[in-house]
Amino acid sequence: MNDIKVGVIGVGHLGRLHTKLYADVPGARMMGVYDSDAQRAAVVGQELGCEVYRDMDALLDDVQAVSIVTPTTTHHEVAGRALRAGKHVFLEKPLTATEEEAEELIRLGREKNLKIQVGHIERFNGAVQSLAGVHLQPVFIEAHRLAQFNPRGTDVAVILDLMIHDLDLILHLVGSEPVKVAASGVAVVSPSVDIANARIEFANGCVANVTASRISAKKMRKMRVFQKNAYISFDFTDGQAEAFYIPDGKGAKDKGDMAIHLGQIDAATLKRDIKYTRRAKKDVNPLRDELQAFVEAVRWDKTPPVTAEEGLQALRLANRVMCEVEKHQDTLKAGMG
Ligand code: NAD
Repeated sequence: MNDIKVGVIGVGHLGRLHTKLYADVPGARMMGVYDSDAQRAAVVGQELGCEVYRDMDALLDDVQAVSIVTPTTTHHEVAGRALRAGKHVFLEKPLTATEEEAEELIRLGREKNLKIQVGHIERFNGAVQSLAGVHLQPVFIEAHRLAQFNPRGTDVAVILDLMIHDLDLILHLVGSEPVKVAASGVAVVSPSVDIANARIEFANGCVANVTASRISAKKMRKMRVFQKNAYISFDFTDGQAEAFYIPDGKGAKDKGDMAIHLGQIDAATLKRDIKYTRRAKKDVNPLRDELQAFVEAVRWDKTPPVTAEEGLQALRLANRVMCEVEKHQDTLKAGMG
């Protein structure tokens, strides 16, 4: 099988990294980059030793697949152009600015039988990957994604910028429809919401309590998952997962690796073991790994690990959270006269 010819459109902060990491992806052949800012493209092209295209269509002519790493408001236009040209697309998150735009890209992708993968990178985090193959059945989830202030990304509310990472992962882990959303949030520093909290109830009874902030003094990216017989904690910053569990339950399975026996608890006449395990997956680079998964999906005609349909579900849930935040803000305004 020949290598897949790839290109990168938009080589700002993250697009530069896409360009750099494609070199480490087996089965990918970097053809070049395009950026509407020709100077920026030239700098990245020179630094990484790759071809710089002056025209997006010329790049599209030369590739089979592209990473689109432009601002979210341009995703629909740029990805639409790539799909119409018959190219597979890796699109950074959030998928698009609106749900209608996402639906149109999904339709285009299906019509043309092309792959679309969305950059929900936490799926590839070492903490999550270390538990790949373990079937989780969350009943309650607590997520915190707290960042220090950085003007980049503040054109959109923290929900679309940061919280959407957790919303995607939660949807993936819970595997059920969100039925009820309550949320509140405040614009503290930027003109859009900087800190928000959402309580999401799912059709299967699971509840998720999600907090995202970009005005915190300390960085934290954690998700705690509670289920029958197990408590699992993902730390996305250090890429590790911890689990406390009762091995013979129906929850997380004991794989017999580094698990530590913590003792026993009385459950009526039955003694039940409690175990603890701390896991990390070695050699993980979430960005490289998601690009590799994309190239493999194109190469071997597989479904990408994060589909455009899933990207749309995450966007829908983020918009519901946004809508509840706005309602709450209206209530506050009314209350304050
Ligand atoms: P950036 O502003 O640093 O870079 C964007 C680049 O796109 C710029 O160089 C700009 O000149 C170029 N550009 C703008 N419009 C274009 C067009 N129509 N055609 C070609 N090039 C165009 O932004 P960034 O921080 O790299 O973010 C880019 C995307 O990646 C956004 O969608 C953002 O949400 C996403 N992102 C994802 C993560 C993640 O964790 N997965 C992190 C950061 C950013």
